[in-house]
Order: sequence, then structure tokens, then C-alpha cells
Amino acid sequence: MERRYQIVVVGAGHAGCEASLACARMGLKTLVITLNVDSIARMPCNPAVGGIAKGQIVREIDAMGGEMGWIADRTGLQFKMLNSSRGPAVWSPRAQCDKELYSNLMSKSLQNQQNLDILQSEVMALVIKNRKACGVKIVTGETINADAVIVTTGTFLKGTIYLGKMNFEGGRFNERRASYLSKSLAEDCGLILERFKTTTTPRINALSINYSKMTEQPGDEKPYPFSHFTEVEKWRKNLKQLSCWLTYTNPTTHKIVGDNLALSSIDIGEVNSKSPRYCPAIEEKIERYPEKTSHHIFVEPEGYNTNEVYLNGLYTGLPFDLQQQMINSIVGLENAKIIRYGYAIEYDYSSPLQIKNTLETKNVENLLLGGQINGTTGYEEAASQGFIAGANACLKILGKAPLILGRNKSYIGILIDDITTKGVDEPYRMFTSRAEYRLSIRNDNADLRLMNIGHSIGLISDKAYKKFELYKRTLADIYKGNIKNLFTNEELSPWSIEKAKEEVYIYKKYEGYIEIQSKMANKIKKSEDRRIPEDFDYNKLESLSTETKQRFFKARPQTIGQASKMYAIKPSDIAVLTIYLEKQKKERKHKYNEKQNN
Ligand SMILES: Cc1cc2nc3c(=O)[nH]c(=O)nc-3n(C[C@H](O)[C@H](O)[C@H](O)COP(=O)(O)OP(=O)(O)OC[C@H]3O[C@@H](n4cnc5c(N)ncnc54)[C@H](O)[C@@H]3O)c2cc1C
Repeated sequence: MERRYQIVVVGAGHAGCEASLACARMGLKTLVITLNVDSIARMPCNPAVGGIAKGQIVREIDAMGGEMGWIADRTGLQFKMLNSSRGPAVWSPRAQCDKELYSNLMSKSLQNQQNLDILQSEVMALVIKNRKACGVKIVTGETINADAVIVTTGTFLKGTIYLGKMNFEGGRFNERRASYLSKSLAEDCGLILERFKTTTTPRINALSINYSKMTEQPGDEKPYPFSHFTEVEKWRKNLKQLSCWLTYTNPTTHKIVGDNLALSSIDIGEVNSKSPRYCPAIEEKIERYPEKTSHHIFVEPEGYNTNEVYLNGLYTGLPFDLQQQMINSIVGLENAKIIRYGYAIEYDYSSPLQIKNTLETKNVENLLLGGQINGTTGYEEAASQGFIAGANACLKILGKAPLILGRNKSYIGILIDDITTKGVDEPYRMFTSRAEYRLSIRNDNADLRLMNIGHSIGLISDKAYKKFELYKRTLADIYKGNIKNLFTNEELSPWSIEKAKEEVYIYKKYEGYIEIQSKMANKIKKSEDRRIPEDFDYNKLESLSTETKQRFFKARPQTIGQASKMYAIKPSDIAVLTIYLEKQKKERKHKYNEKQNN
């Protein structure tokens, strides 16, 4: 039996859900295939959406018509604006979500979506003809034909789970892996696959915790939703927030871990694959920072209807008995009982240097990759790529121009530009420091930056866009001080006059700086050919991290352009280097002039 769809999406994780919803909403007949329909949009690590720079990504997805922010607003059990003690440019919304509710609600969105079918099955191979993706073969022997295929397989490709020295096959704990698709991606599509690794924390029973010894971390009194379409006041009234708690590791914890490093799975695996440097396992933290005697552990609920609690900061690949000892050494967790062990997982990913900035592979036309398969980590990073891959697959089929977001427009644009031009040598996650225009790409103005794009590709309805236009007129009026005949909140809803006032306040605060930042970014672009002295001492650049200095010392780039293309070098590092070289040049010129005058 053969079936035909316009788009087939492989995988219903965070990337696959956004990809399939975008395609179906753009009017294309879409099929999403997943190994297990009960685990659609599952959050296998912390059930939290957003966070530093990631919150901005969620707002951007939402502004273009994506789903993640909307679902997070309806399933969040605690909302916090991170970095709120700093300027609004780096404010980052974050929500601790109810794990089950999130997955169920996203699943329902998929089920309710017109033009979208869901199938539980395993994709064994891709059908490629004349270097073009034409469909997939599934485990039942069926071939499903398609005009384009989007692969979003996450951690499932040849996934191997490690618990101490014990290891077994799996895509996540208790979920089978995809053992066959890697072969087809390599042999039929010519993609080179590599291995990465990531870890998660043990989950414990809330009833076994002594919260009186910990510091309470309540949600914000005035929480902000992710979605531009959530009616804020109504939403705030109905929100029932739960608290998180803070405790710390101590020298006893560090001794248990330090004495048993050899038993951990962190440094083992088929090819000693890399794990995310910015989400290190406790073993890595203790090895890397031996001078530290404690690390934060955030104790976070996983849902309204479960006693399972997540230990944020205690990622581990230690054997199960040592996980129990380690946890019981922590204040407040002396009697804590583990419900699920932490573990490490190693999986295949495809180097993102093999895809274009549309997320289509360079080798095979109409084959697009999105999410963890591109060497990234994180739900938000995955969701944003799924959204872009979905939109671009449709735009290509419809014969329209692709959706490519600039670095000055969005964090999503930065993510895709970074991974497709520099590649990855560890799982890539987003930070505000990766953004050279971070004063202008804030979480508050994602709608102003991107909603016109969502509307132009058919993912923001005319009705919603009309409201947005009224909001923009209100902003202009408030900016100019014409506040007599503003639209009412009813006319503006889900936007409001209060939101408009806040937006104008933030804009005015940054107006001058944004211009300076833009000039600086242009200056850096122009100075790409500036030479860096061969014996340049990077230790003079005090604000660079030790790791960045080491990278520069090792690579010894000859020009600013070469330095900026190096992996893991951020625009802020390049700004520091450029300013220093410029200052040196000015000093030399000054000395020369002085000599001439004497
Ligand atoms: C143990 C663990 C720890 C993690 N730790 C962190 C962390 O510390 N920080 C962080 O930011 N992120 C972490 N993550 C990563 C986070 O879960 C992913 O970044 C995110 O889920 C990736 O989304 P995705 O859509 O790309 O893939 P996933 O969410 O993994 O979804 C993949 C989907 O593809 C389907 N699938 C795969 N192969 C096939 C096939 N052949 N046929 C049909 N369907 C298929 C699966 O059933 C699933 O639906 C962790 C993940 C795991 C498993």
C-alpha cells in the first residue's frame, strides 16, 4: 500500500510538533510519524520552557504563529522573568511546566489540526530519487510518498543509555531507540553522522524532602505569559503557581562524586562523545572547579498531580547506588527517595555544516533537518528549527521565497547562522552573549520584529494581525505623546494600553544605545580584514573568559574575520578584541605623531 502526503515529518518532539503544525496551518497535507504517540512533545529533562535567551526564542516562535509559548502558558506551574534585576534587554521569561499536561495539550493541538495526520510507527529509511527526498519507508513495509521530508529525530538515532558502567539501547529511558534510520541518512543521503551525549538528573519523591531546610523560590508576583495571544489579566487571575526550592551540594557530596569519577558514564561511550558544556554533569563540575565547595541545586516540581521532583543542577551518569548516596548528602534531601535514576544518553547527530540556512540538506533536495539532529540541545532550540524547517518546506513546495531570519532580527536567525556556518563541536545552546544586536532583539518586542513575517506566510491570521496593527498605531501615538484618543483595551486585546506603555518605555530607554550597538556591529563587519599581530597576547583582554583566550592562543587567527568565524567565539568576544586593537592602533599613531612633532 502506498500513501501520499505533501509533507512527512519524522518525529513528534519539540521540533516535529512545530514543523508539522506549521506545515498543516500553511495548508499542506501533512503526516507526522512518531515512535510513540503517548510521548508527543515529551520533556525528558527539566519540564521547563524558556530561560536565558531561550525565553526570547519562545516569544519569537509565538510571534510567527508557532505553538510552544501558547502551550507553556496553559501548562506552566511557575513563571519567572530571569535577569529581571538587569536591564529589560536581557530579561528572559521562563516557566516550570506540568510535564504531563504539556505533552497532552501539544498532542491535542496536533490531533485537532486540520490537514495533519498522526501515525505511530518507525521510519526505517528515506526514499531518495535523483538526490531528491520523495518519501519514507516505515516498519510495516509501507512506503509513504511526499514532496518533502523533515527529519526531527532528537536523541533517538542509535541512542545508547548509560547508567554508570551499565549501558543499553534506548532513545530515552523506557523508550526504544531508532536503530535503522541512521544507515539510510548516511548511505542514501550521504550525510556524515557523529555522536553527542547528554545527561539528566534523578527524580525524587516530594514527600521525602525536608523543605524547611531549603530556601523557597516562589514564582513572580506579576507573571508574564509567553504568548502574545494570551490575555494577560485573565490569565494571571487563573494561574495557580507552585514554588521551587533551593539547596546546595557540600564537601561530602563532592567527596562521594570525586572518589567515584571512574565509575561514571560521563567519560565513556563509543567515541568519547561531547556533552553540553553549559549543562555539565555534577561529575564534570567537580572535576572542572575543584576549588568550589558547593553548587546550587534547584528543587523543582514536575507537575500539579505528581510528587516527582526534578533536581536541577544534579545531572549525573553515576551508578544508581552512588546517586542515592550523593542525594542523601545534601541538606533537605537526607531522606530523599529516588523515583527515577539520572542517566546519560549518546546518540547520532548530523553536522549542521551539511545543511543550508533554510535547514534543507545540501546533498538532498527537499530533505530538511530540525532540532537535536542538527547538534543542538534544548527544547526551544529544537522547536524553533522545527518551525523554520516546516515553513521552508512549504514555501519551497509553494514556489515562494524561503524564510531566512537575519542575526539582527532574531535569536532564531543567530542560532541557524551559527550552526550552519561554524558547525558544532559540542551540543549547541543559545545565550544572549551570542547576539551582537541583543539590545534590539528583546523578548518584549518579538511581535514587532517578526509578526509581519508570520502573517506573510499565513501563520498569523488576518484577524489577529489587524489587532496587532492597532497596537502598533497605539505605540506610535504614545511615543509621540498623543495619548488623548487611544484605542481601548477591548479594541486592542490581547494587546493592551499598559503593554504599549511598557514597550514605549523600554524602547526609549534603549533608543540611543541601539544606535551605538548597530554602529559597533557595522564597524566589526568592516574591520574583518584587520590583522591580529602574530604574537598578540590575549591575556591582555581581561574580560575574555579563560576558555576563549585558550581558543585564540591555540588557533592564532590572523584577522578579525578569521577570529569571528571560529567555533564558540561570540560577537561580544570579537567586540572586545576589535576595540583593543583599535585602541592600540590609535596609541601607536599618537606616539608617531608626537615623535614627528618633536
Ligand atoms: C536524557 C536527556 C537529557 C537531556 N538533557 C538536556 C539538558 O540538560 N538541557 C537541554 O536543553 N536539553 C536536554 N535534553 C535535550 C532535549 O530533550 C532535546 O533538546 C529536545 O527534546 C530535542 O527536541 P527534538 O524535537 O529535536 O527531539 P526529541 O524531543 O528527542 O523528539 C524526537 C522524536 O522523534 C521520534 N523519532 C525518532 N526516530 C524516529 C523514527 N525513526 N521514526 C519515527 N519517529 C522517530 C521520537 O519518537 C520523538 O517523538 C535532554 C534529553 C535527554 C533525552
